[in-house]
Amino acid sequence: MGAFPREFVPLSAPAIQGREWEYVKECLDTAWVSSAGQFVERFERMVSACTGARYAVATVNGTAALHVALLIAGVQPDDEVLVSTLSFIAPANAIRYVRAWPVFVDAEPVHWQMDPEKVVGFLETACEWRQGALFNKQSGRHVSAIVPVHILGHPVDMQPILEVARKYDLRVIEDATESLGAAYRGTPVGILGDVGCLSFNGNKTITTGGGGMIVTNNGSWAERAKYLTTQAKDDSIEYIHGEIGYNYRLTNLQAALGCAQLDKLDEYVRVKRRLAETYARALSPVRGVVGPREAPWAFCTFWLYTVLVQENQYGMDSRALLRKLREANIEARPLWQPLHLSPAHAGVHSRKCPVAERLNQQALSLPSSVGLTSDHQQRVLDILQGGPGPAYSDVVADRSSPTT
Ligand SMILES: *Cc1c(COP(=O)(O)O)cnc(C)c1O
Repeated sequence: MGAFPREFVPLSAPAIQGREWEYVKECLDTAWVSSAGQFVERFERMVSACTGARYAVATVNGTAALHVALLIAGVQPDDEVLVSTLSFIAPANAIRYVRAWPVFVDAEPVHWQMDPEKVVGFLETACEWRQGALFNKQSGRHVSAIVPVHILGHPVDMQPILEVARKYDLRVIEDATESLGAAYRGTPVGILGDVGCLSFNGNKTITTGGGGMIVTNNGSWAERAKYLTTQAKDDSIEYIHGEIGYNYRLTNLQAALGCAQLDKLDEYVRVKRRLAETYARALSPVRGVVGPREAPWAFCTFWLYTVLVQENQYGMDSRALLRKLREANIEARPLWQPLHLSPAHAGVHSRKCPVAERLNQQALSLPSSVGLTSDHQQRVLDILQGGPGPAYSDVVADRSSPTT
């Protein structure tokens, strides 16, 4: 390595390769920059078309989409809502925004998604059906919904979850924010349950800078979502508001970006699947580095290509490898702290989630940008294939220093 720092390789940078300039310029030229304008509706129609949802309602971000999805699904204060523990924190926070309680569900070990057996097990054994509703026997609370989170571009095994939800009259709210473009048994994620949520944050496959979307086939829910996200205004001349709403609107500028980005979704997913193939091929001989597996019933977008690092075989744990990558100016990241361990959700009645804890110890997401060049990908691979080379002793020394 020379004296010059090598070019930074980001984990997931936006790709701006379509008509973004043209569409945004149109907003600027016409001064339609705010929450009204043709691009918002156009973006909603495009998302409807690409997910197959009858309705799509744009929101300011994915977290707001989750908040409003829980409201329109009728989740009440003090209800319990099952949610994946191995997830970014947003869905659990949204459950608290409506003053309901998360029940964290462990991941399954093969695809790392919400474990449907654990969902069914909890509902069948820890809950009881009385007076036409389901209650948690221990807490006494009404269980009203399930929020499966399709993490990293791979769908949750939805069929058993949808079946048990039907049996116990539970709503299913899909957090599809990481997995736009993915499909379960041929059906796009987001429309498998009662309502789905998407995100267009800067690190997602498609971005509007920040943005989100609620998708559903239920017309009255869609109407209510629009109402709640636009301050619940009943009379737009007299400004009479029927209830307490939210300003969760997406701007025309953001939607213009979204229209240009969405045109590229299929192409970007193809690129990500190709990157994943290259990673998989190059890493298959590396002992102790296990790549993601696409289920036979899944179409995965490989939003973030994530590997498990098994210390006993690889000779180094995921965090040591993380530091080695960072030293080489390559951004990588572990998966999120499982939510049942999160200080933000301390006090939430918690169940054992050993699989999520192990995955959290072992997982590392690798650079997965649509714009990742083969040179940059090779730099990542060189580090991983190098195993515990000379840098390892540095890492060990570093680890035992009194300042760390
Ligand atoms: C990105 C993401 C969201 C939404 O994030 P926003 O930044 O609010 O758009 C929600 N849930 C998960 C699992 C996510 O990864």
